[in-house]
Parts: sequence; structure tokens; C-alpha cells
Amino acid sequence: MKRPLLSLIFAAVALAEPGVIDPAALRADVRRLCDLGVRDTPSLASTRAARLIAEQFAAAGLEPAGDNGYFQDALFTRRDFSQARAEVSVKASGGTVRVAGLAEVGARCTEGLNITDAPAVLTTVEGLARLDAGKTRGRVLIVEGSDYLTTKADQMGRLRELAPRLTVLPICGGGPSQVRAVRQPEFTEGEPHKTPSVIAVRSAEFCGLLNPDGVTISARCAPYEQRTFALRNVLGMLRGSDPTLPALIVSGHYDSRGGPGGNDNASGVAALLEIGRALSTERPKRTILFAAWAGEEWGLLGSQHFAEHLTLPVAVNVNLDTTGHWPAGATGTAAEVTGLEYSTLGEAFTRAAELTGVQIRPAADEYFDKSDNLPFAQRGTPAVTVTAGFRVPDLHTAKDTADRLDYERMARLADLVATAALMIANNPEPPRWREIPATEKFRGAR
Ligand SMILES: [Zn+2]
Repeated sequence: MKRPLLSLIFAAVALAEPGVIDPAALRADVRRLCDLGVRDTPSLASTRAARLIAEQFAAAGLEPAGDNGYFQDALFTRRDFSQARAEVSVKASGGTVRVAGLAEVGARCTEGLNITDAPAVLTTVEGLARLDAGKTRGRVLIVEGSDYLTTKADQMGRLRELAPRLTVLPICGGGPSQVRAVRQPEFTEGEPHKTPSVIAVRSAEFCGLLNPDGVTISARCAPYEQRTFALRNVLGMLRGSDPTLPALIVSGHYDSRGGPGGNDNASGVAALLEIGRALSTERPKRTILFAAWAGEEWGLLGSQHFAEHLTLPVAVNVNLDTTGHWPAGATGTAAEVTGLEYSTLGEAFTRAAELTGVQIRPAADEYFDKSDNLPFAQRGTPAVTVTAGFRVPDLHTAKDTADRLDYERMARLADLVATAALMIANNPEPPRWREIPATEKFRGAR
């Protein structure tokens, strides 16, 4: 049993010699992606990014691993909800309040509505379950205490059953993020379902008038615009020597939102490309799948789709997200790993950290479900995300540019991940979840 372990470490040490991942190559990769523009979903920039990544996979000698060459495509629909002329008024015994404007009103209307003095049914989130569709169909429903209702599939499903003409969400004390959440575009795979019309109203005066004795609602809003497009993951593989072993996925999302996404996440894709190149001369036991995911910023769309439609069996996922910009005051090269302590994957990272001299620490638990590692964990597959730190300024803005990244440190972080990946791929034992409370829902999910 000693020999394989030794050769494994020798391989990793050899790989970890300074200069394995070239900072200049990372910089060139990030620049090329950022030069395309905002890689929103869908956009010409993201289509071009996918092609660029496929070309880089081919140049590195990785085999196509999608169902359409290097690509895995899925038909999606995006709906953008109009905010034009959106307004709501409530009339009650205490008077009338009219609310309009982007800071106070968030509209999610599936048809143009122009409602005048319609009597409303008043309920709470808990009350939704008890309502009778006979009393709500075609009417106006007011749901109190409904933080982020439109982001919750079960509550939206219930609204679909109750089929009101309009649902009003009074935000009484909540911040503007709840209004923004309501206007978020909606993405669905395949045939989009019927979406209930919802308007959020953030106004203390509006809330003050609500009472069970009877209120009427007037409202106006415009319908959505809809586009159907191909969501495209890019998949390249380094074939393992043992075809019976399920693959290690090394991944990162290539889409961006609100800006060119230099740190979030051209950095992770650049690391992925250069790790692919560095490992392409190796012949690990386990196949390594290099995956660039689409649509992360709108709800992990690409990784979720892949996890539901695997193109090959999978044992483990190491994901890269925002790997190029360190929080102010951070010294040396340190990497944060979400779920570092959740599985035996942590052991490979600890050894790789020793070999490469890169410090690692667990990221806060709240980040475990914020990136593309999640769809794999939810299906019982041990998964982590490696980052330079998510608490950095200007993510999702025009300021997240290629020139702001620290490519020297980024190359060290990529060395760490390449070393850990090779160890994991050379170990015929797949990583396992640790028996701790945080992993309970993932352990049972196979
Ligand atoms: Zn990201």
C-alpha cells in the first residue's frame, strides 16, 4: 500500500514546483473573456465565451465530453418583467394610498393589468395553505409576511393553484432587496409554466391601511418579454486510466452579471483552463472532467442542468469561483474552501496546501449553497468551492475588470487546486461525507 501513496505525492510535488501555472497565461485568459463584454444569460458575449473555452479545451488536448462536441445544450426560456407604469393603490376606511416608483414597487406581471377598486382577499404566508381556490380565483390576493415569496417554488406553486388575477405582497419593514427579488427575470427549462402575476409594495403607509374589514386594490402593470435560447455548458475531459472510476469534475461558471466579471468568474475559468493544460500530460486513474457552467448568476442553471443530465458518472466536484481578488488586508496566498470540513475531500486539500505552501481555511457555512458545488452536493456527491474570498467589493458591477486581479496569487491558488485534483483523481477511493450535522441532508441524498 505504500508505493501508490508515495508515487502520488511525488507526482504532486513535481506539479507544485513554482511556475506550473503561469500568471501571464491566467491574465491572457481573463482578458479574452472580459473583452467579450457582459456574459449575461443569454447574450452574444456568452455564446462567444463558450466557443472560446471549447477552443482552449481542444488546444489543451482535452476530449469533447458534451452531447454536442464540447457543448451540452439545454433549451431555456427567460422572462423579463416590465416595470413600466407599475403602480398599486389601496383604499380602506382609513383613506387611500397610491404607491409607484422603482424603489417601492416591484412588478412581476404575466399580462397587462389595469384593475380598479377590486375587493381584495387578505391572508398571510401561513394562511395560503388554508385558502380555497373558489374564493381566490380571478381576484386580488394580499399576502402579508411574505419575505421573498417569488423565490420560493412551493409558495409560487400554491399561488398557481389559487389562481388569483393579481397577488400583492406588502413589504412592511423589509428592505429594497425584497422588491428587487420580485422583478428578477424568470428562467425555466423546457416549456415555461404559467406564472402568477405579483406586485410587491414597500410602503409603511400602504401597510398601515391593511385591515381584515375590507380593502380594495387598484393596480397597473405591463406584461413580460420572453426569449427562448440554448443554455450551453462547455465540457472537456482528461480520460482516466481506470474506466470503472466515476469522474472528478473541476469546474467554474463562465457567465457574468452586471459587468465583465473579471473576478466573478473569468478568474475561475482561467484557472480551470490552465489547470487543464497543466494536467493534460498526466494520466490519472480517475477521469477529470473540466466543466465551464452557464447561467450561475441566475440560479446555478448550468450546473443544475448537468447534475440532472450527467454525460458521464461523477464521484466528486471541485468548483472554482471568484479566485482572483483577495479581501483587503489578506496577506500571502490563502484560499477559502466551502465545505472543507464536510467531506474527506478536505484531506486532499490539506496535503495539497502543505505541498504548495498555500494556506487554506474553511469558508463560512452560508457560502456552501451559493455556488455550483451545490447541485452535486444535493445529489449526494461530495463537492467544494475554492475561492480567494467572496467578501470583496464590486462583484456584479462594471468595476469587476481584468486589470484588478492579482495574477501571481491566483497562479498559486491554481497550483493548489491542480495538486489537490491530481491527488483526488489518483485515489481510487471516492471522497465521502463526514458524519456531521451540516452534511446530513447531503448524505441521505444519493
Ligand atoms: Zn460567481
